[in-house]
Amino acid sequence: MMKKINVTIWHEFRHEKRNEAVRAIYPEGIHAYIKSFLDANEDMNVRIVALDDPDQGLPDEVLNTTDVLMWWGHMAHKEVDDALVERIRQRVYTGKMGFIPMHSAHKSKPFGAIVGTNGNLSWGRDQKEIIWNILPAHEIAAGIPDHFLLDEEELYSEPFYIPQPDELIFCGWYEDGHVMRSGMTFYRGAGKIFYFQPGHESCKAYYHPCVQRILTNAIRWAKPNDFGFEIEDKCPHIVTKTVDEFNQ
Ligand code: ZN
Repeated sequence: MMKKINVTIWHEFRHEKRNEAVRAIYPEGIHAYIKSFLDANEDMNVRIVALDDPDQGLPDEVLNTTDVLMWWGHMAHKEVDDALVERIRQRVYTGKMGFIPMHSAHKSKPFGAIVGTNGNLSWGRDQKEIIWNILPAHEIAAGIPDHFLLDEEELYSEPFYIPQPDELIFCGWYEDGHVMRSGMTFYRGAGKIFYFQPGHESCKAYYHPCVQRILTNAIRWAKPNDFGFEIEDKCPHIVTKTVDEFNQ
């Protein structure tokens, strides 16, 4: 039997509670909406958790059984516990979990701790965005046309202060003339990270079939490899062996 991918959608879940316009688009929350389209995939077990749940939504029994963690945060970045950030980083670096930070998670503690920069970018009014597919051979771009249009998305603009991505898959063009690297991968330690820019809380990016397909593909790409050996967050000491001893 195929082993299912355990996906945890971790959400700050504050805007929906405070803002009628956001609640009208995502009545049960962005996390519940993303779960609703991911649930069509038989190879995934999808859970939703929120920052205001016990242990900020990620107690050991949840985090340690998560293969791919998705994270949407914005107004509460500072509230995320540093010890939790460290547990997330370790799990990614040791190849036990993939990580998909979404939209305003560019400025979140876990994203910064994992990729290593402040994630700053410029932002502005909501407007049309064209997402260009610039690496169609990538697994995450499978089934995505050469471009697609989001009728309204928050302007996120370069310069985006991230390390050079390992793979740049999507680029955004905005009607005000700005550009943005909108979908890219990073490899850190033995783990895989995919950042995806569309997803402002008062726009409807997650309703777009191409966005849904990208996130679905990204989960399958980010799931941990079956390494066949344990990877720890340390430098193991090598005890010299002879060739014959290695092959025993
Ligand atoms: Zn936003």
